[in-house]
Amino acid sequence: MTHYRSNLRDIEFNLFEVLRIQDRLGHGPYAQLDEETAREILREVERLASGPFAASFVEGDRTPLALDEDGDVTLPPGVRASLDAYFDGEWYRLQLPEHLGGYGATPSLNWTATAMLAGANSSALLYTAGPFFAAIVDPLLTEEQREHWITPWVEQRWGGTMVLTEPEAGSDVGAARTTARLADDGTWHVSGTKRFITNGDFDWPDNIVHLVLARAVDRDGTPINGPGTKGLSLFVVPKWWVESDGSLGERNGVRVVGLEDKMGIKASATCEMVFGDRGVPARGVLVGGRHEGISQMFKVIEYARMLVGVKAIETLSTGYLNALQYTRERVQGPDLARAADKTSPRVAIINHPDVRRSLMMQKAHVEGMRALVLYTAAIQDDIGLLEHDVAAGTGDTAELERLRRRNDLLLPLVKGYGSEKSYELLAQSLQIFGGSGYTRDFPLEQYIRDAKIDTLYEGTTAIQALDLFFRKIARDQGATIRDLFGEVLQFAKGDAGNGALAAERALLGEALEHAGAMLTTLGGHVTASLTSADEQEAAGHIHRVGLNTTSLLLSIAELVIAWLLLRHADVAVAAQEAGDDDPFYEGKVAAARWFASQVLPTFAARRAILEHTDLGVMELDDRAW
Ligand SMILES: Cc1cc2nc3c(=O)[nH]c(=O)nc-3n(C[C@H](O)[C@H](O)[C@H](O)COP(=O)(O)OP(=O)(O)OC[C@H]3O[C@@H](n4cnc5c(N)ncnc54)[C@H](O)[C@@H]3O)c2cc1C
Repeated sequence: MTHYRSNLRDIEFNLFEVLRIQDRLGHGPYAQLDEETAREILREVERLASGPFAASFVEGDRTPLALDEDGDVTLPPGVRASLDAYFDGEWYRLQLPEHLGGYGATPSLNWTATAMLAGANSSALLYTAGPFFAAIVDPLLTEEQREHWITPWVEQRWGGTMVLTEPEAGSDVGAARTTARLADDGTWHVSGTKRFITNGDFDWPDNIVHLVLARAVDRDGTPINGPGTKGLSLFVVPKWWVESDGSLGERNGVRVVGLEDKMGIKASATCEMVFGDRGVPARGVLVGGRHEGISQMFKVIEYARMLVGVKAIETLSTGYLNALQYTRERVQGPDLARAADKTSPRVAIINHPDVRRSLMMQKAHVEGMRALVLYTAAIQDDIGLLEHDVAAGTGDTAELERLRRRNDLLLPLVKGYGSEKSYELLAQSLQIFGGSGYTRDFPLEQYIRDAKIDTLYEGTTAIQALDLFFRKIARDQGATIRDLFGEVLQFAKGDAGNGALAAERALLGEALEHAGAMLTTLGGHVTASLTSADEQEAAGHIHRVGLNTTSLLLSIAELVIAWLLLRHADVAVAAQEAGDDDPFYEGKVAAARWFASQVLPTFAARRAILEHTDLGVMELDDRAW
């Protein structure tokens, strides 16, 4: 039996009842799809996810990957079979644009499909990245490069990697030392060691295309661009060279020299890679013929960050649903209210108040985080439509820019909050199973191991929080977040829920005020640091910001989630008032109420902590720790 439990009902509620993606289908880049096809796609992907894709979940965890002298990695047979099922069904086409042979699905449908596959088998899913990476870099390449690289990459379903990290360059990507020197034939010879590279090698595809960040140098080794991230360029470096007729040529000088022995996602190859190996150059092509590596790589990073958030949240979703099932089957102890009566019947554990408390905490968070993901995805749907219109000369460019900024603002919430909260709450899902949860009889222990990575790669939570505050909020003087807060305020002051949600909207309004005050305080520190003549004092202001950015990320995510859950509850109340007695709607209202009453009141304390932050922690003598 499959370990994976999907929640298609909640997914369809998000997509068709709240976000109404059917209104976007049939238009612009989504012209090929209609609602019925979209629903059928979801059902098919669910079958694939719960069936052949999930089938190698345990085998991949328990069967070590093999690495040989040539740097070739062999996958467990079951993982290969899962990939066969995915590629034979041509599911990778869902995410591709039409001009690359794709189905032109909306991002919201893509992310939903991706979520189900990630929840079923995240290690296997990571191996499917190749065609998507190809689609992301496609617009960045020259015409000639596109024809040479993208067509075979997509059509032959090659693997793909994103290669940033080095032993001395983790969060600090700009510390990278790998170089690329222009060769006589116009290619670049990449030289250096990269670490922790997902998909560095695996034996499913015929070729793997590595997207490598390196420092372009001239013939004397002098960097062409300056230091830091701005000095990095992006190169396409294949495992096997690709000849101009599309055939595979010589083996390139890039080799996997080590595999990490990890806590989780064990079936995913995490590789140490040497470029310029054994005297063979690692030949690469400069993306777009331009030295704009970090901004080009950011297109891939943004995709990967969303993917990581989606993976984490869906893992919690299946964890919660497994736990829920267990609470209905496991009988233990009497009803608390009848505990004194030794003859009272034993009950299923779902009847115990503390179990219900834990279940609701999981349900409200997972549905709230799914709402956040799909709300973000629907903004990406709108961006796709507007880009299409703008290209045709009819779109509103200001609105397009507004939506892009909103999407950028939401990404660190999806990735940062989604990964932290999912990992934290998976411990609650496991707890529901008692001692059995700690065994391999249930998937929870693997879920926890597989999900921990999500707070780490693609930028740790600390890095997401810095990105949120400095790049997404401070850089435009708060304009993007004010725009979002304005919508939350309007909702809080409105009449959604027809009276049924008045208390929850009031709580939302109060939390919004606290969040606004937190931002004002942090903004004040930034201003003070800029205007202070005293260097130490200026640093102190910035450090006070840094002591609070993670708390800010969590708060803003919870504010947005509360708002979205209440919007969901509003739709549910309307359905109930129209006579629909599906208990699903009752669950929606209950989750929103729980989140508003249990999570939003913590904002007052968070604000107080933030406002009273002093520099004690920063000034503590190193020996005092
Ligand atoms: C399984 C796995 C797969 C991976 N896949 C890839 C891949 O495909 N491609 C790739 O390029 N990389 C990949 N990585 C690398 C991953 O992105 C990095 O591990 C991650 O960015 C963190 O870098 P680091 O490990 O060097 O930690 P460090 O940067 O050393 O961070 C250590 C700690 O310090 C904190 N910290 C660091 N700098 C700051 C700061 N400025 N402010 C506040 N806190 C800070 C971090 O939050 C963290 O808690 C992968 C890693 C793993 C484990």
